[in-house]
Amino acid sequence: METKSMQAVEPLYIKVHETDNVAIIVNTGGLDKGTHFPDGLELKERVPQGHKVALTDIKENEPIIRYGEVIGHALKTIEKGSWVEESLVKMPQSPELSELPLATNIPKTLPPLEGYTFQGFRNEDGSVGTKNILGITTSVQCVVGVLDFVVNRIKKELLPKYTNVDDVVALTHNYGCGVAINAPEAVIPIRTIQNLAKHPNFGGEALVVGLGCEKLSPMRINPNGKESDIISLQDQPGFAGMVQSIMEMAEERLIKLNQRQRETCSVSDLVIGTQCGGSDAFSGVTANPAVGYAADLLVRAGATVLFSEVTEVRDAIHLLTPRAVNEEVGQALIKEMDWYDQYLALGGADRSANPSPGNKKGGLANVVEKSLGSIAKSGRSPISGVLAPGEKATEKGLIFAATPASDFVCGTLQLASGMHLQVFTTGRGTPYSLAMAPVIKVSTRNSLTEQWKDLIDINAGTIATGEATIEEVGWEIFRFILDVASGHKKTWAEHWGLHNDLALFNPAPIT
Ligand code: CA
Repeated sequence: METKSMQAVEPLYIKVHETDNVAIIVNTGGLDKGTHFPDGLELKERVPQGHKVALTDIKENEPIIRYGEVIGHALKTIEKGSWVEESLVKMPQSPELSELPLATNIPKTLPPLEGYTFQGFRNEDGSVGTKNILGITTSVQCVVGVLDFVVNRIKKELLPKYTNVDDVVALTHNYGCGVAINAPEAVIPIRTIQNLAKHPNFGGEALVVGLGCEKLSPMRINPNGKESDIISLQDQPGFAGMVQSIMEMAEERLIKLNQRQRETCSVSDLVIGTQCGGSDAFSGVTANPAVGYAADLLVRAGATVLFSEVTEVRDAIHLLTPRAVNEEVGQALIKEMDWYDQYLALGGADRSANPSPGNKKGGLANVVEKSLGSIAKSGRSPISGVLAPGEKATEKGLIFAATPASDFVCGTLQLASGMHLQVFTTGRGTPYSLAMAPVIKVSTRNSLTEQWKDLIDINAGTIATGEATIEEVGWEIFRFILDVASGHKKTWAEHWGLHNDLALFNPAPIT
């Protein structure tokens, strides 16, 4: 403990790459004007925690370099030791999509990692669940009020009888009617609802609640295609009849789900999602590289690892296309970037809509700096596949699953891709979680972990203070993933029963 407090007092900055001309301040609360660093650097002014200090004089229009990459140009001369505040940084152009190198620097496949397993629920189709959940799918928002009422009763009256079932989750959304269901981009929300219903945590059991007059027919999203799995509220004798029918159908399925048993499964059965939310300047040097290390361990053990968030990849895409396992995968990456560029342009927005005010307060000047830190989550493996939003993952290895960066939308789409568990890094702090799969929260800073002891699962802030290495925290994340996937340990969000709503990505018109 003594060393810890000593470390906290000593002024500390982190320079990521040898060519960087800025570094970020580690100390909680920031550092005052006049602070001397052991290497002789003196602060010309106060610099907040996580914000950048100039390591050399940076003249007007000269590049500002972090992670060995240009994150912007100086709008006026910044003296050595000064705060490189966001308003001094002019954002560079995004990499041109037509000029990217494809599969030119494919990383060497890391040696296989053997001897690790987890306890999962094997399904008839060969997939594996990490939880045992009754999932109730909906074809339209109109049914949600009734369904919420019934889910409350199921939790109180039925679930206690079936102790082997973890939860009942209603897959609710605002799609289904009043939407341009034949528009080309409607494929995204429809595919998402279809694939959510097939999630391996639901054990192959299906229950679909529809209204009866909606555009999205319940059969279209019914995973097993059986009429007997669908209940249509307009056919029921009043509210009491609706409640009774859904309760009866739920109980039939709970009886079957209750038979499921955990068995030893290979790590290659896992689909692990990664995401960041509420990022700060530490994200790219502590939590994200540690998650990247864990991602490499998972890939080495044969698992599928998803990384996402197009707007936080776009400005670092020139570092990703060379890692594509072949040109086809490289082209697929570009296709998703291009689609999103057009989607943003159509809405009159561009990438400057990201980062958030909180990101900026945490020291991130712009989306270029945010992206360079964000892609650290992808580790060092070759990129072996690309999924369009809401597509199901079928391949092993590191996969780019295209999603918006919005936490809930990314979470929902990764669930549709079959994600068993999400590793979520945060610097500013968010209590975000999901009902269908656990979310492990990794903090970028010691101070956030101390502030949110009962929400943060893993602290990567120790990497900034030198108390732990990226490898050590990476292994901690990897082992915790296997414990949570096995049901041996719970995340804080599971402990408290926290979860956000599902949030569909619907780029098609609403009518
Ligand atoms: Ca996010």
